[in-house]
Amino acid sequence: MRIGVIGSGYVGLVTAACFADSGNDVTAVDKDAAKVVELSSGRCTIYEPGLEELMRMSMAAERLRFSTRIADAVADAEVVFLAVGTPPRADGSADLSAVEAVAEAVGKAMTGPLVVVNKSTVPVGTGARVAEILRANTNHPFQVVSNPEFLKEGSALDDFLRPDRVVIGADDADAADLLVELYKPFVRNNRPILVMSRIAAEMSKYASNAYLSTRISFINEIAEICERLGIDVNEVRRGMGADARIGHHFLYPGVGYGGSCFPKDVQALASTGRSAGASCELLESVHNRNERQRTRMIERIRERLGADLSGKHIAVWGIAFKPKTDDVREAPAINVIGAMIESGAAVSTYDPEALENARQIFGERVTYCQRAYEA
Ligand code: NAD
Repeated sequence: MRIGVIGSGYVGLVTAACFADSGNDVTAVDKDAAKVVELSSGRCTIYEPGLEELMRMSMAAERLRFSTRIADAVADAEVVFLAVGTPPRADGSADLSAVEAVAEAVGKAMTGPLVVVNKSTVPVGTGARVAEILRANTNHPFQVVSNPEFLKEGSALDDFLRPDRVVIGADDADAADLLVELYKPFVRNNRPILVMSRIAAEMSKYASNAYLSTRISFINEIAEICERLGIDVNEVRRGMGADARIGHHFLYPGVGYGGSCFPKDVQALASTGRSAGASCELLESVHNRNERQRTRMIERIRERLGADLSGKHIAVWGIAFKPKTDDVREAPAINVIGAMIESGAAVSTYDPEALENARQIFGERVTYCQRAYEA
């Protein structure tokens, strides 16, 4: 199948490389010209285990190429995936300006019938909005499908190539069949491809991320209660997780969830819910508890070392929001390091992948170490 992918970040690159690997002809686009130059020379612009190798194999077989021009990905394509960012606005709702801009450009570039697939995490109703924009910019027939992405940074290839499930939200049977065909090579292990309405698919992504975030905030709240009562929360976690109805996943207390998805998606879902007239106290509490984990960490450092940290040297291991990624977006460590510097501490850091991204934020205000014990 001839496929276009618009947006070559964490999701777009993995999508492009995996579909190319399964034999499709893929053109991936990004508006960032420097990124496209890097990618075109076979260098992966993010750290994701195995991705560069996979990219290079398909590039060598001429099944994968990169461009800055949306028309290169749309002309003669059967399917185009939108994988641009949907960052939070100040009020917590999702900023759809990139999705809308790309939808317009895709519409203008269409040369024939097309299935446009929203892979970005977008609020309920965005599929309809994309369809409206396409309609205003093309006379060719099209369908808009929602296909939310559930990959985890750090194990993204495995998640994409062997997904727990694939969700396809399509109100048109032919468009759904096309997507099912495309995903068949990845579900040979009998994992389900779930075809549903477009709005249910859009909602499934937010509901999944909100639920996982809820587990994290829940165990963090239990941890604070345990701490005040002198109980080791790890024993409690094991006592809970052994219940088959509960399980151990996402029940690890810590400094809170981060990354480019959970924080923004919990807030965006609450915003969607409020706009629809629903009460979203639980989602709001999940978010507030998560914010509290970060400030609590800073409070603990000050309780131990004093409010004025000048003259203190503090080492931080791990800056990315989780292991095996270089992604520092919404990483709790960024807040904690920032607060320590403000209080006068000398901070030295180590992270196997994220030092360059941390340098973009802190410049020369912290020391970057190449080995953990050097920090
Ligand atoms: P990202 O910021 O890494 O990548 C987005 C890319 O889109 C960037 O390279 C940017 O330059 C490009 N872009 C923006 N506007 C463009 C335009 N007009 N034309 C062409 N390119 C454009 O973001 P990401 O982490 O890949 O996330 C993308 C979407 O997928 C978001 O909605 C996110 O919530 C969702 N998602 C992310 C993950 C994850 O783990 N990162 C997982 C599942 C879903």
